[in-house]
Amino acid sequence: MKFGTKVIHAGVAPDPTTGAIMTPIFQTSTYVQKSPGQHKGFEYSRTHNPTRDALQKSIAALENGKHGLCFSSGMGAIDALIKLLSPGDEVISTNDLYGGTYRIFTKVFAKYGIKFHFVSMDDPASIEKYINDKTRLIWAETPTNPMMNIIDIKALAAIAGKHDLLLGVDNTFATPYLQNPLDLGADLVMHSVTKYLAGHSDVVMGALVVNDDRLAEDLAFIQNSCGATPGPQDCFLVLRGIKTLHLRMERHCQNGKTIAGYLRHHPKVDKVYWPGFEDHPNHDIAAKQMRDFGGMISFSIVGDKQEDAKKVLENLHYFSLAESLGGVESLCGHPASMTHASIPKVEREKVGLTDSLIRLSVGVEDAEDLKNDLAAALELI
Ligand SMILES: *Cc1c(COP(=O)(O)O)cnc(C)c1O
Repeated sequence: MKFGTKVIHAGVAPDPTTGAIMTPIFQTSTYVQKSPGQHKGFEYSRTHNPTRDALQKSIAALENGKHGLCFSSGMGAIDALIKLLSPGDEVISTNDLYGGTYRIFTKVFAKYGIKFHFVSMDDPASIEKYINDKTRLIWAETPTNPMMNIIDIKALAAIAGKHDLLLGVDNTFATPYLQNPLDLGADLVMHSVTKYLAGHSDVVMGALVVNDDRLAEDLAFIQNSCGATPGPQDCFLVLRGIKTLHLRMERHCQNGKTIAGYLRHHPKVDKVYWPGFEDHPNHDIAAKQMRDFGGMISFSIVGDKQEDAKKVLENLHYFSLAESLGGVESLCGHPASMTHASIPKVEREKVGLTDSLIRLSVGVEDAEDLKNDLAAALELI
């Protein structure tokens, strides 16, 4: 099945009792048993729910994986994944990463004795010096948030394989439409489903996809034991959102290209970070591992003043100032004070996350209107 067919058909089938083409919302916490232990594979909805099962199959298929697991948020998915580890274990993570991930690593799991190294993965070979006999996991995000760096997943997978480590990739920004980390050698793919997969800014959810049966079993045990599972309504909304993922992504990519090109020639804009530019430092890897370049763009303003960034953000109309990304509507944000406020200033400036940096999630509106919106706001500074 090709991608555009998978988003419509994978994991779902007409309801056997009614023929309903849409997977019903099984709004139930429990299932009746004929006699103790005699049931149809469903006992309690924390463990299994038919709406969630359909969604898990759908997301697994999109990532070319065998097993999908959904969680009540992206952070719930990361939480479950780190619970595979034990005190004393070490993780090597990208240094340019989602603020909430940095927070759960440093403020939650560090105190349970798990050690995290935050390193640049521009040159994957350079991470080998952090590997020792306690290292268990390499954690990468690509494109990174918000600097749009690209990490070579295949090269990381080679290092992980050589040292018998797990490689986990946060694929939220790229989506399975643009890149499939499992095909490139990763062991675990994570999604904040909240973003592009759901696509309509109406659900918070997370997912993990793996191929290994044992890993899937361990994660299902954690999913059920810790209980961060999504409800059936939300699973239904995501199943519905996924049906247009390919159409939305096509437009996100087109609009991203138009807006990145426009900003790049604007006299008040300093740097534009978008992996589709041929002079982006990792453009070659992006072109190799991604099918297109997406609709996420960051840019800084000449003079790097936070007031200028604020003025632009306050005066955009079609780009709403809000946390999150990946919905049909365009959003803008100020990483230094919003998504990445939990990362110390010295740390964030090391990766280029400066005070005037603005992050755009370019939606699927008419690109001409989006361009005009940016032009009018930039005019005011
Ligand atoms: C939003 C996000 C998360 C966290 O997901 P939630 O659904 O908000 O819990 C993790 N990684 C990335 C890249 C994100 O954008």
